[in-house]
Amino acid sequence: MVVNVCKHCQRQYIANTKGFCCSRCKDIDSMRFEQIKAYLKHYPNSSAFQLADALNMTAYTVLKYVEEGSLVFGKGTFERL
Ligand SMILES: [Zn+2]
Repeated sequence: MVVNVCKHCQRQYIANTKGFCCSRCKDIDSMRFEQIKAYLKHYPNSSAFQLADALNMTAYTVLKYVEEGSLVFGKGTFERL
């Protein structure tokens, strides 16, 4: 069992594996992910802060997606700051 912190609601939750999203935020998670992917397609050289600003989410959330490994940044370079 692992104690995880949800990247959307910042609540701690217990799961069998390391994760970044609690079961309550699953819908938000996939929605946000699609938004980020779409944004990066148009602006591949964005920073986490630009992305967060444009999509009205926190940079923390964006960086969690990166940490999670679910975001692939193609040819563009992704700056963390
Ligand atoms: Zn959550």
